[in-house]
Amino acid sequence: MLPNRRLSEYLPVRFANGDQVRQFSKPCVHCGQMLNAQHMVGVARLVKGMIAIAAKANCPACGKQFSVTCLIDEDKRVQRVVVPYWLFNPYLRAIQLQDDEQFASSSAAVSDMLPEPEAASEIPPSQLERAEDAVGRYQGKPIPAWVRVNGRLFTFDRVAQNAQAGQGELLLDGCLVYRPGADN
Ligand SMILES: [Zn+2]
Repeated sequence: MLPNRRLSEYLPVRFANGDQVRQFSKPCVHCGQMLNAQHMVGVARLVKGMIAIAAKANCPACGKQFSVTCLIDEDKRVQRVVVPYWLFNPYLRAIQLQDDEQFASSSAAVSDMLPEPEAASEIPPSQLERAEDAVGRYQGKPIPAWVRVNGRLFTFDRVAQNAQAGQGELLLDGCLVYRPGADN
């Protein structure tokens, strides 16, 4: 079983295509301070072509501790993991990956841990309302003209193929960027 270590000791992790992830950062859930791999303890490793991370982050600014579980694909898009840290962390530390075939057949559980492609949104569906009107289509799916999150309106701005949204913007389905709407 792999030990939990400072994530910076597990990085960089290299994808099969030669690209690598050298740094990993995430804002503190409490105060927004940007934390990096130095502030996280856990494990980061390649699983089925993606980098899987299950760590505990400690914010140096406010002292908050929180779990970080995610997958990073070869396009360096971050996807949520549906299982909680306490399950994902020991799982990642325990799996043997010498033989991909064996891995695929022996751990049916892993497919449950990977998010559905459509479920890349960071917002729980229960808090998200999508407009019926579409402003266009992207990758075969309609682009809602606006979305509401907890009552706040966001209007469609652009497609971001790098999955990067700016400050105050909302990233939907991993590629659609919305800006706060006029009625806020
Ligand atoms: Zn903080």
